[in-house]
Amino acid sequence: MEEGQEVHRRARTLFPQGISGQDRTTAAAAKKTTQLMADPSVTTIFEATFHVDGYSARADVIQRVAGAWHLVEIKSDVEDKPELVDDLAYTAMVAVRCGIRIAKASLLLLSKEFRLGMGSDKLFVMIDHTSDMEQKVRNFLLLWDDVSSKTKQPNRPSPNLMLACRSCPFFEADCLGRGINDHIFDLPRLSQKKFDELAAEGVVTIHEIPAGSELTDTQERVRRSVISGQPSIAGSLAGELAAIVMPAYYLDFETVMTALPLYPAIAPYTQIPTQYSVHVCSNVGKVTGHREFLADPARDCRRELAQQLITDLGTKGSVISYSSFEKTTIRALAAHFPDLKNPLAVIVDRIVDLEAILRRGYYHPGFHGRTSIKVTLPVMVPNMSYEGLEIGDGDTAVAMFARMAKGQVEKRETERIRKALLAYCKQDTLAMVKLHEQLTAAIA
Ligand code: SF4
Repeated sequence: MEEGQEVHRRARTLFPQGISGQDRTTAAAAKKTTQLMADPSVTTIFEATFHVDGYSARADVIQRVAGAWHLVEIKSDVEDKPELVDDLAYTAMVAVRCGIRIAKASLLLLSKEFRLGMGSDKLFVMIDHTSDMEQKVRNFLLLWDDVSSKTKQPNRPSPNLMLACRSCPFFEADCLGRGINDHIFDLPRLSQKKFDELAAEGVVTIHEIPAGSELTDTQERVRRSVISGQPSIAGSLAGELAAIVMPAYYLDFETVMTALPLYPAIAPYTQIPTQYSVHVCSNVGKVTGHREFLADPARDCRRELAQQLITDLGTKGSVISYSSFEKTTIRALAAHFPDLKNPLAVIVDRIVDLEAILRRGYYHPGFHGRTSIKVTLPVMVPNMSYEGLEIGDGDTAVAMFARMAKGQVEKRETERIRKALLAYCKQDTLAMVKLHEQLTAAIA
């Protein structure tokens, strides 16, 4: 959010004539916008607000152009994506319904060519989406009356289950998933076709799936596990665990990725590894060592990180990750430092993805179709959690590091945050050690 605000602040410097249309309430801001637009000496308005028939929209920038307006939406994105054009078109639609002539509509995106130290004029690229906007506005307007009448009702409309509900933030907390412990959305890789089939039969829970319904092997394993209330183990698990070579090195990276680059010669949104933790085990569950690295936030330390990683991971034994992210990160380091390519490639060859093994071989009803470590750890190792850690999630870790890199953290706070970052990353690799131990116990 802070980065978004910074991007907006810098974008506004491109429109030195701009006047803010903001006010305390939407209605007051809409009134102020109308007044500013009526004043011919005003050429550019920030946060221009439009409000009509229950719809509201706020345009980042509108600029007067020959009796009409150029609508500009500022985005902290480098990629020109359809959903950004949807957003632009929504704002244009509300403005049009307020009687405003929108002659041009553009997205102001971040430039991939921007580097630290360049001026704001090099930070952005303006992309004209006028014809896309016009087409979308025509389509959106077809829904205007229906949406307007529904949103004016005192009660919300009855929801209909659709596949998109699976990723809706209201699903579990306040809509169709509330109170359901075995929803069909817990089935891994549920296709639209299978969903339609089940929904047509009125099937909402895994318990209701009729016997003989065609499911993939993994889905069937999940179904059996949910019905029995017991973990289910696939035949592949024992073999995959047996292939892990000891000593094992449990590896986890933290990275930082910011819209405005933190270091020279780096494009916006380049993923920079900043930290890792390695737990070393001579046998399953038997920790014999721990190694870690945390970059100096004041500079790009990728080379030191890569060199220390090569030393810390030795030459023998499996390197265990939990996702494909570690492999991707090491490959990116190898591409960036050609002289380290060979030793890094050897590490990549040693990587075993414990999450992939678990996904293929083990399911517990408490997973609810997910296998991230934050889900599987409390189910399989209930006495271990991230509670009590000052930094307990990846987003906070990234934000804290970025703040230190931007010099926004006071010196006396830095040591405390560094310790919290190290503790968080260390907890991730210890969690992997414990999960491996539990999986091994499950097949014993
Ligand atoms: S879960 Fe979300 S998408 Fe589905 S009906 Fe409810 S609000 Fe709509």
